[in-house]
Amino acid sequence: MPQIRTDLDAIPAYVPGRSAPGAIKLASNEVTQGPLPAAQQAIVEAAAAGNRYPDISAYALRTELAEQFDTTPENIAVGCGSSALCQQIIQATCTSGDEVLFGWRSFEAYPILTRVALATPVQVPLAADGSLDLDAMAAAITDRTRIIFLCTPNNPTGPALAASDVIRFLEQVPERVTVALDEAYYEYCRRDDKVEGFELALRGAHPNVVAMRTMSKAYGLAGLRVGYMAGSAEIIAAVNKMSVPFSVSAVAQAAAIASLRSGAELLARTDAVIAERERCRAALLELGFSVPVSEANFLWLPLDDAALPFNEWCAERGVLVRAFAGTGVRVSIGAPEEMAAFLDAATAWTHREN
Ligand code: PMP
Repeated sequence: MPQIRTDLDAIPAYVPGRSAPGAIKLASNEVTQGPLPAAQQAIVEAAAAGNRYPDISAYALRTELAEQFDTTPENIAVGCGSSALCQQIIQATCTSGDEVLFGWRSFEAYPILTRVALATPVQVPLAADGSLDLDAMAAAITDRTRIIFLCTPNNPTGPALAASDVIRFLEQVPERVTVALDEAYYEYCRRDDKVEGFELALRGAHPNVVAMRTMSKAYGLAGLRVGYMAGSAEIIAAVNKMSVPFSVSAVAQAAAIASLRSGAELLARTDAVIAERERCRAALLELGFSVPVSEANFLWLPLDDAALPFNEWCAERGVLVRAFAGTGVRVSIGAPEEMAAFLDAATAWTHREN
């Protein structure tokens, strides 16, 4: 038997949202339509050249992103999903025993990737409305803190951070500590005063800020795995060093470039999801559920001990949502008919016999 790291038993595996044939899947914050039409065509064309390794530096994709964000390719990294970029930035900043700070509950991968890197997760409870408690996070910084994740909008609860609150927070963070704004759901946030992580990372007053987005959510490329990050050339170079070679496939690079050029179609899609989110939230509030404001493509039901029973109740009615035991349930926003099926299940739940 080969010797495996003895600390691995204590690290939970990442649990993906459930899926089952024929079921309505509202468990992984995916979009229900396929990739945008231009991306579908790019995928077919790139697949024909699949015998060759991709451009290791993803130069064309980084150039496209640099143009969109008015910067240079040296300030942009791409990765195999923004999950990989989370891992790379942790590895680029932490050595054994260093601390990674984040709100909790938040993206499930943060504590896992932290422990894989032999670093220590420091989890700061969210405020009562499901938003990040920035004052408590600032108070939790120690000499060992190397990186802070600010997930905005926060997965799984939904609220987004205001720019002014983030700027006040950054003023309390020593410059040696990297602050990573994880904007995986940015495209669904319509708050006028929201933080613009890419602006802060590229043109803000604090060189220790990076920001990340993903092509998995609004762009509908979850199956292709592309995420991107902006930051100082020094941090980006360090993040790139932590990558496995060729981590973004040629097909994914081509699909990402085509998707990024389809701005108007993307906006129409995200607008439809937002309208459905608001309709669904209003219906849930009407049914008596507590539902925090969401700026993402999901809603959060803080059901506490009822989270798992509610999850099973929905599954029995053909709707798969995402439960976090003892805490709550996250429901991704799908097509109107899928949300109608979910709301039927939720309505039946409120009428059930206990
Ligand atoms: N950050 C957050 C907050 C997420 O919710 C997710 C996906 N669940 C990711 C990052 C990673 O997305 P991907 O690796 O698909 O780009």
